[in-house]
Amino acid sequence: MRNLRFVVVGAGMAGILSAIKLREAGFTDIAVYEKADRLGGTWRENTYPGISCDVPSHLYSYSFAPNPEWTHTFSPGPEILAYLENVARQGGIDGLIRYGTEVHRLEYDRAGWRIGTSAGRADRADRADVVIAATGVLHHPRYPDIEGLDRFDGPAFHSARWDHDVKLAGARVGVVGTGSSAVQLVCALAGTVGELRLFQRTPQWILAVPNPAIDAQDRARYRAHPAAMTELRRELGSGFVEAFANAVVDASSPQLQLLQDLGLANLEDHVRDPVLREKLRPDYRAGCKRLIISPNFYESVQRPNAHVVTERIRRIEPRGVRTADGELHELDVLVLATGFRVDRFLRPIEVIGRGGVRLDEVWARRPFAYLAVSVPDFPNLFMLNGPNGPVGNFSLIDVAEAQCGYVLELVDLLGRGRCREVSASRQAMARFETERAEAAKNTVWMTGCRSWYLDDRGIPAVWPWSFTRFRAAMARPVLDDYELV
Ligand code: NAP
Repeated sequence: MRNLRFVVVGAGMAGILSAIKLREAGFTDIAVYEKADRLGGTWRENTYPGISCDVPSHLYSYSFAPNPEWTHTFSPGPEILAYLENVARQGGIDGLIRYGTEVHRLEYDRAGWRIGTSAGRADRADRADVVIAATGVLHHPRYPDIEGLDRFDGPAFHSARWDHDVKLAGARVGVVGTGSSAVQLVCALAGTVGELRLFQRTPQWILAVPNPAIDAQDRARYRAHPAAMTELRRELGSGFVEAFANAVVDASSPQLQLLQDLGLANLEDHVRDPVLREKLRPDYRAGCKRLIISPNFYESVQRPNAHVVTERIRRIEPRGVRTADGELHELDVLVLATGFRVDRFLRPIEVIGRGGVRLDEVWARRPFAYLAVSVPDFPNLFMLNGPNGPVGNFSLIDVAEAQCGYVLELVDLLGRGRCREVSASRQAMARFETERAEAAKNTVWMTGCRSWYLDDRGIPAVWPWSFTRFRAAMARPVLDDYELV
């Protein structure tokens, strides 16, 4: 076996996983580049009040690192970050991470990948036989294009760039957006701020899934009997696949109708004021946007200090938000929970493949990757949670684990010297894209709403098939679909 050199870009959930799995496979020459001074990816960056994960914690865990200490069904963000740090430490890969080092260039030549990084002020270069891009999806904040945003007098920040120095107790706080981030932070803030104004462009389907604590007795049981966690994970996983992951890719499925019925009942039963109820009633299919789970969102927006504003935002002024009806909503703090630029992936890294081809040009219209993992002409570069994967359907940890296993099979070809270069063939890529666009027509994401799942053509940029099919595809690469040099 050749002792290949690996560079992993990003020390988030998928980067930590890659380093651990490469070590397990017997590789020793591994560097993980991390631009920040701490690992954890999305869980390091998102620190807004109320943050948690909408996948149950025992499912949102690595299969090889079950965690008996989860405190809630959906545990809070800081606990997830601590879990990732713990896994990295126990996996012995913390020492492989080069913190504070941003990769800004990846260039392929016959000797492999040249890695351009900025370490401190001096530009450094490194080399790798294989690059694993674990750079995340919901990573680059999307700032809204609203006139006057820079003229607001008070603090204004994105939900993923929370400013913890800003005092919120008693303040008049405005939140733009009603996605998962906004809903979580609204629930956390409503009881502490003086006044809360939620600027809603589109109402959301909300499922009132409870989030019970996992008591000390259950935690002790999981500690003593790890098999109980494995069983719980299996149950949660199959429930999630059946009730959600397989439902969203079949717009006519009864499971999807059930989710919508539950969302409707939640709205009808828990919003008392008929005017507010109509403001909060979605006019599109449940699941078309990311379904939101929250046991107390409706309760939070019905507090006397909370206001749901549905008038379009005209502009931001120094004292607050001016809506289209002319009203000025005076604010002390403005939070932009307006989501992420989901078409970036590795970018802004400059990636130059075989023959000088630039990823930014190849992806000029939209990003794509064969089975979300490999792009033609970019040999020995593999992505975890890359374009067109099941990012909206399932636990991203499970997705990354399946992809990592698949990538290791390709790496094995390199290690054994069966080839020097491996990348998806153009034919396989084209076929995959055609099939993907066709299958997307059956998904709920194409039933008429605006969401971050849709690409520039209005076609979902995510995996449009069942999770079972994803697992089957990841079981083993079909080598005919690859160009082996
Ligand atoms: P998001 O789902 O993209 O929501 C962005 C929100 O901002 C939407 O309500 C959008 O309105 C609104 N918006 C954007 N531009 C606007 C403008 N110019 N004027 C007014 N409103 C504007 O972003 P997110 O909430 O950060 O969530 C992103 C994804 O991250 C989620 O779908 C989920 O996958 C993940 N996430 C998960 C959790 C969790 O596990 N619980 C928590 C946070 C995030 P429109 O709907 O009208 O476009």
